[in-house]
Parts: sequence; C-alpha cells; structure tokens
Amino acid sequence: MSAAVAAASSRYPHLFAPLDLGFMRLKNRALMGSMHTGLEEAENGFERMAAFFAERARGGVGMIITGGFAPNEEGGTGAKLSTPEEADQHRLITEAVHAADPDVKICLQILHSGSLVAKPICVAPSAIKSRIGRYKPNELDEDGIEKQIADFVNCALMAKRAGYDGVEIIGSAGYLISTFLVRKTNLRTDRWGGSWENRMRFPIEIVRRVRAAVGPEFLMVFRIAAMDMLDEGLAWEEIVSLAQAIEREGVNIVSTHFCWHESPVPTIATMVPRAAFTQVTGRLRKELGIPLITSNRINMPDVAEAVLARGDADIVSMARPMLADPDLIKKTIEGREDEINTCIGCNQACLDHTFGGRKQVTCLVNPRACNETLLQYPKVASGRRIAVVGAGPAGLAYATVAAERGHRVTLFDAGAEIGGQFNLAKRIPGKEEFYETLRYYRRMIERLDVDLKLNTRVDAATLAQMGFDEVVVATGIEPRRPELPGIDHPKAVMYIDAILGNKPIGKRVAIMGAGGIGFDVAELITHEGKSASLDVDIFAREWGIDFKNHPRGGVTGVVPQIAKNDREVVLMQRKTDPVGSTLGRTTGWTHRMTLNRRGVRMVNGVEYVKIDDAGLHTKINGEPKLFEVDTVIVCAGQLPLRTLHDELQALGVKSSLVGGAYEAMELDAKRAIDQASRLAAAA
Ligand code: FAD
Ligand code: NAP
Ligand code: SF4
Repeated sequence: MSAAVAAASSRYPHLFAPLDLGFMRLKNRALMGSMHTGLEEAENGFERMAAFFAERARGGVGMIITGGFAPNEEGGTGAKLSTPEEADQHRLITEAVHAADPDVKICLQILHSGSLVAKPICVAPSAIKSRIGRYKPNELDEDGIEKQIADFVNCALMAKRAGYDGVEIIGSAGYLISTFLVRKTNLRTDRWGGSWENRMRFPIEIVRRVRAAVGPEFLMVFRIAAMDMLDEGLAWEEIVSLAQAIEREGVNIVSTHFCWHESPVPTIATMVPRAAFTQVTGRLRKELGIPLITSNRINMPDVAEAVLARGDADIVSMARPMLADPDLIKKTIEGREDEINTCIGCNQACLDHTFGGRKQVTCLVNPRACNETLLQYPKVASGRRIAVVGAGPAGLAYATVAAERGHRVTLFDAGAEIGGQFNLAKRIPGKEEFYETLRYYRRMIERLDVDLKLNTRVDAATLAQMGFDEVVVATGIEPRRPELPGIDHPKAVMYIDAILGNKPIGKRVAIMGAGGIGFDVAELITHEGKSASLDVDIFAREWGIDFKNHPRGGVTGVVPQIAKNDREVVLMQRKTDPVGSTLGRTTGWTHRMTLNRRGVRMVNGVEYVKIDDAGLHTKINGEPKLFEVDTVIVCAGQLPLRTLHDELQALGVKSSLVGGAYEAMELDAKRAIDQASRLAAAA
C-alpha cells in the first residue's frame, strides 16, 4: 500500500479497505458502475472505450463494469458479444485497463433487454408490451428459453476469452431476466411461470450454467432490483430468496438496483437525496454471506464512506460520478477532495442522450467524458494573456481549461461571486448539487492561478487598454421582456427578481413561459418546507416509497404525500404542445408530476394580451380569458448579451463569444461548458 493510500485509509477506512474474494482481491471498495455510453456502437468505439476505461482505471477505482452487451441478436438493439471475433475486439479494452493498472478489475455486463429491445424479434416470457417498449415481444417457448440461457453462457465465455476478470449479469430494470420474476410480465403456466419458484428458475439456471462453464475463478456479479418501485412488483421475501438462491449457485457479488425503467419514481435524478436507497441494500446484506454493491446518487467520497461505514454495502457503485470526474478516487487518495468535479445528477448529457435517440453519452460538467481521444487539453509552449469576461458556466469552463493549458487568464465578473445563472439555479429546491460545481470552479481558479476580478464590470475601452492578447466574451444573457401592454405594471416580475426574492410574489400567480426556468420558478414558489432532495424521509413521502415495511415493489398501496403551500399557480405557454415537452427526457416527467401534485395548472396555446390591475388578459382558442392573479412572473426565454463583443471588434481587439453571449436560443449549461471547453482546447 502506498503512503498516500495509507493516509487516505485513515480518513476513509472503509472505502480504501481491500476486499478479498478468495481467488481475487479488489484494491478498494469503489466501483465504476455500468453505463451504456453509445461508444459500444460508435465508429472506432473500441479504441474510444479503451481510452475511456483506462482513464478511469488510472483514476483509482477498484473495479469497472462496462456498458451492457447483448448475448444475442434478439437481446439488444446495439452492441452484442457472442462470437470469438467480437470477443477479440474487446481485448483493446481489457488490455488498456490492465496496462493502466494491473490491480483494477474489469467485468463485462451481459444485458439482455428482453421486451425493451427496439426490434420486432424481441422476446419475453409472455407477449406483453412494455409501456416504454417499441414492440410487443415474442413469447419464448421452451426451446427459446433454453437458447437464451445458452446464449448467456456463451457470452460469459466470450468475455473470459476477451480478458475480462468477470461478468455482471443484469437481472433488473425491466430487462429480460426481471420480466421472468415479476408476476405482471410473466403469465406463463409452465415451469418458468406461476409460482415464485418457477418465476425465479430462469435467473437461477443462467447463474448455475454460467458458473459451470466459466469455472470457479471468474467473477460473477448479479444485479437485482432490491426495490423495483413497481406497483405489484417483487415482495421483500422474494428478493431475499432470489439473492440467497443465486449465492448458492455461485454468484460472487450481488449488486443492487432500485427500479425498473418504467417505474414512476425518480431514483437517480438530482432531486433524489444522496444515497437515498442504500438502506435497502443494507437490509439485504444481513441475509447474505457474499458482498453486496449499492448505488444511486453516491457522488462524493464522504457519502461513499458513510454508506460503507453504516454497513449498508461492501462496495459502492459510482457510475455517473466517474463520467464527471475520472480522477475522483485519485483525488480522494491525494487529499484533493475539493478538486472533485461532482456529478450533479442532472442526466442532461448522459441518460437524456441514451434515452433520447441513442446519442453518445458525455457529461455536462466534463465534456471530455467519452471524448477522451477527441477532446484534449494539451499544454501550450508559451502562454498568452487572455481576458475572460463573465464567470458563468461558459466563462468558468473557458478560463480553467485555458489556464490548465498554460495560458495566463484574467477572469472578470460584475457579480460578487462566480457562477452567473448557476447562482439562481442553486436556489431551486432539488438543485442544491449546483453548489458543488461552483465549489469545483472556485478551487480550480485558485489552483490554476486564474486572476479572478469579482465586482468588476468591464467595458471595451478598459479591456483595450489592458493589452490582452485575446478577450473571450462570456457575458451571458439578458431575460427577454416581451412587448406587451402592462409589462411594466407592478404585477409583472422578471424571473431573476422572483428567484432572488427582490419583489413580493402574491398568492395567485401566472407564470408566463413554461421552459426549464418556468418550471423551476413554479417549483420554487409552490414549495413548502425542507427540500425533499436533502431529506430521505420527505423524499420517500413525496414519492410514496415505504422503506420501512417494503411492500411489493416498495410502493404498492402507498399514497404519495406532497408538501405544498397555498399559492394558486398557472404555468402557461403560447405553443400548443403539451406543457413541459421541452424538458429533459429522463427528468421532465418528474417535474410535471411534482407540479401536478401541487395543483399547478398547465395551460398551452395562450396568446398574451395585456397585464393590468385585474390580472393577465389572454386569448385561448381566440376566446378572451382573464387570469385574475396578483403576480405575473415572466420566464419568456433570453437574448444574448454581447454588446461588449461588438464594441471590442470596433476597437480592433481580438475577441470571441461563448455561452449565452454567443447564442441564447436553447442555451443550457451543457452547451455553454462544452462550447467553451472546446474553444479553450484550441486556444
Ligand atoms: P451566465 O450564466 O449568464 O453568466 C454570465 C456572467 O457574465 C454573469 O455572471 C454576469 O455577471 C457576467 N457579466 C455580464 N456582463 C459583464 C461585464 N460587462 N463585465 C463583467 N461581467 C459581466 N442550465 C442547465 O443546463 N441545467 C439546468 O438545470 C439549469 N437550470 C437553471 C435554472 C435557473 C433558475 C436558471 C436561471 C438557469 C438554469 N440553467 C440551467 C441555465 C444555465 O444556468 C445557463 O445556460 C448558463 O448559466 C449560461 O452560462 P453563461 O456562462 O453563458 O452565462
Ligand atoms: P426556454 O426553455 O427557451 O423557455 C422559454 C419560454 O418562454 C417558453 O415557454 C416559450 O414558450 C416562452 N417564450 C419565448 N418567447 C416568448 C415571448 N416573446 N413571449 C412570451 N413567451 C415567450 O428558456 P428558459 O426557460 O428561459 O430556460 C433557459 C435555458 O436554461 C433553457 O435552454 C433550458 O434548457 C435551461 N434550463 C434547463 C433546466 C433543466 O432542468 N434542464 C432548467 C432551467 C433552465 P412559448 O413560445 O410557447 O410561449
Ligand atoms: Fe452527472 Fe449530469 Fe454529468 Fe450525467 S451529465 S454524469 S448526471 S453531471
């Protein structure tokens, strides 16, 4: 053990305790969990995956699990592993990881997506279409089931041939194995359906035959839904008996998961409290003799240590946090926790990409994720003097990447703190993680010697005099103020004033504009009490989860109880599309559901006419409609703020635009950080 790891062990004794599995030793308890990144199907995907995983191996994790590979054609829409030729391609990955650190273990995830496969040949125990699947699956007959089992075994053998240290078999989330387990997706009356013993026969047979084929010294992890969040999902006794049965059949580690993709409870979004579900793993751990992995919203080392210390698990899985920062564990070992670029659980560049049309995954706070071979920040031979104006996400990303490369950067902001609009975002209940991004940038500015000038609104003439080699204008946006009679009426409040509490907000409110900010403002002004994302009990109550009694699925028969104040709120837009349809693919439904439960009315197809003492006058379907409200909060999008750039150009100063100043339409922090990082990489 190195001196640094020994020192880290005294601060994180559980996280850095090695785990002896008999035939194999894990150097620590940090696992990079499986994520489908889209690289599996990309051009040069194996080279890119090799670089992606090797960077994480160098970053200190004990074990890595790849994205899912299907064991056969019918088991997946994307990548599969079933032939020796395919196995040999995987050697690029396994060799890169083992070369990066021979002590890091890497397992291949075997993912048979069952009824969620977007192909007409998809299969399932019964011909029941999933709510989120594209096709009604073909019901497997006895031979078909035997073929699927054989294909799992073959895939595990191919993984062994490819040089993996083991496999993870996923038996949760609504994929094939889990549809055998749950009654409503398995209506069979033969030996594979009906009683619980019959329903769990399929995973048990897979595990038994994989173990027989791969031998005793090949790691087998099995992922189960320890709480599937399905009404009429698995009962606790069924989960325990399944876990014990697969332990008997040779599984080395049970990994716990907490949902099906179609379950109506958020389990990983930023509104979920950190480590909210690990208590379920802790209860299961008491029933088993083998190690357990827990997961979901464990994004910092102190959270991981606390989970392990209270005995909830033997290993913590951090998947998205390893996208956000490949060096999370290394920084922890070196006592540089304040330099960790924390995953904020936004899903915007990872899961929203995966589920929104199979785009490649990356990370909002780290655009290099999955682009390791394409986006690099090489050192420059001689640094130039660069002024960055605006310390919002775009300016922060530009300044820190440019400084990391060796440029001498001065960063100006008119405000008293860095962050730009993130200082508004962090005030929204459920978005508290945004503080972490600001902490990260604050530390990077210090470490990289960026000359930070706060409370400094700069103009073009001053900048011209200061003689910078280049100016980067990251001045962001100004909120759009629609041209509407009465927009200056005291009832009309711009969203910035509403969020900062600069103006009083009445009891009856109309929100004009239902984009991300309109939704956030509705959340803020209808919220009551402590943020659910900071308290597991409140979160459980709001989403109808019964951690204590664990009824079927964890949720059966539990009525969600959402706290709300007595404001009457109408959220409106001009478009006739459903309100909220522009929100994130994997999180939008949670925001719509929360506001619906708080009684927020959502109205589309609104034409705004005027604001006066009576309220907001509109037309809907051509008919006049008055909303008798005390306050109209304007969340009508933004316009770029770029006069500084025009003035610099007029003075002949070299300048470029990034973030909202470049383009305000459809701007979000993902685009701002990505664009700024790429520009700085080329500076
Ligand atoms: P800004 O963040 O606007 O920063 C511009 C900075 O420039 C400011 O700090 C300003 O003080 C400074 N400045 C301007 N002029 C000058 C000058 N002349 N001299 C010095 N300084 C100057 N995005 C997401 O991706 N996900 C979210 O969940 C999300 N939630 C949001 C919630 C809210 C409530 C809000 C308001 C925004 C949210 N956003 C979110 C949007 C995101 O914050 C913006 O897209 C992002 O901040 C834009 O970054 P930027 O750097 O271009 O501009
Ligand atoms: P937005 O998503 O573009 O929404 C702007 C809203 O204003 C829309 O409802 C639009 O709908 C309305 N609008 C536009 N022009 C108008 C006009 N002239 N008069 C009246 N209404 C008008 O922008 P935003 O809500 O300001 O958010 C800014 C950015 O931050 C977005 O890109 C968003 O992605 C990001 N953000 C993201 C999140 C998140 O959770 N991911 C949260 C907050 C913000 P109609 O034209 O139909 O009326
Ligand atoms: Fe985490 Fe958001 Fe990055 Fe996904 S995009 S890894 S949720 S910070």
